[in-house]
Amino acid sequence: MSDERSPVDLRADCGNCFGLCCVALPFAASADFALDKAAGEPCVNLREDFRCGIHARLRERGFPGCTVYDCFGAGQQVSQVVFGGRDWRGSRETARRMFQVFPVVRQLHELLWYLTRALTLLAAAPLHDEIRLALARTEHLVHGDLDPLLELDVPAYRAEVNELLVRASELARAGVPGRRDHRGADLIGARLRGADLRGANLRGSHLIGADLRRADLRLADLTGADLRGADLSGTDLTGALFLTQTQLNAARGDSATRVPAFLARPAHWGASDLPVGRASARPRQGRRPRRR
Ligand code: SF4
Repeated sequence: MSDERSPVDLRADCGNCFGLCCVALPFAASADFALDKAAGEPCVNLREDFRCGIHARLRERGFPGCTVYDCFGAGQQVSQVVFGGRDWRGSRETARRMFQVFPVVRQLHELLWYLTRALTLLAAAPLHDEIRLALARTEHLVHGDLDPLLELDVPAYRAEVNELLVRASELARAGVPGRRDHRGADLIGARLRGADLRGANLRGSHLIGADLRRADLRLADLTGADLRGADLSGTDLTGALFLTQTQLNAARGDSATRVPAFLARPAHWGASDLPVGRASARPRQGRRPRRR
């Protein structure tokens, strides 16, 4: 097994999926989705060929949430592997089981992604054998039969893997002096412009709409942090731990934002408004985060 990649494809391949995220998941009308939709009910915009009828206009039509969602490859895994290419329109029973297992496989694929990232952390080398075991166990579940997947206690399994990821994160951030602990913190709309958040624990923090412009988030643990609408213009995310493409896509940023090499700069981000020659300037150090 490679240290860099899992054999399971963790990149979404919508062309080989039966639009599972557009059917299996429930939506609540909000700034992310223009309407309510129950789990198992096809979105009104889903076409007969399982493609989105408003794909090119999702944001302007009130569905920005669809532009940031990532199934980590669970869609094609369930459609093509678990169900062997049978779609949900042919049988109610197939549909029921397919929609039931999709969120389970999605969570397992997400764990595979986190574990794969953890294997790239050199400072977490003492845990790499444990991480490889957890990867193998999770892959075994993904490749296994349908019934064990449906019976899996997903929250308990996630908690077990998460404990390992937390230890890996602590090892990776241990060398950053004065690192802050904002785990699970309510930082909605917080003014953190230029803040020194190097090596900070921001796991599960709520950073919706936060001003993180020019903040230093190198080596910060961003597992599950809610970055919707957060402003990352000029922010340094180099080496940020467990930052996903979904989180990045949900935030705002610009050409001066330093994005980890394993992620892509979102297409909707704007150009930098920093003066020429200052786009890569270091932010002020030692500033304490302030609430709102
Ligand atoms: S709007 Fe398009 S992408 Fe979003 S759920 Fe509906 S069909 Fe899927």
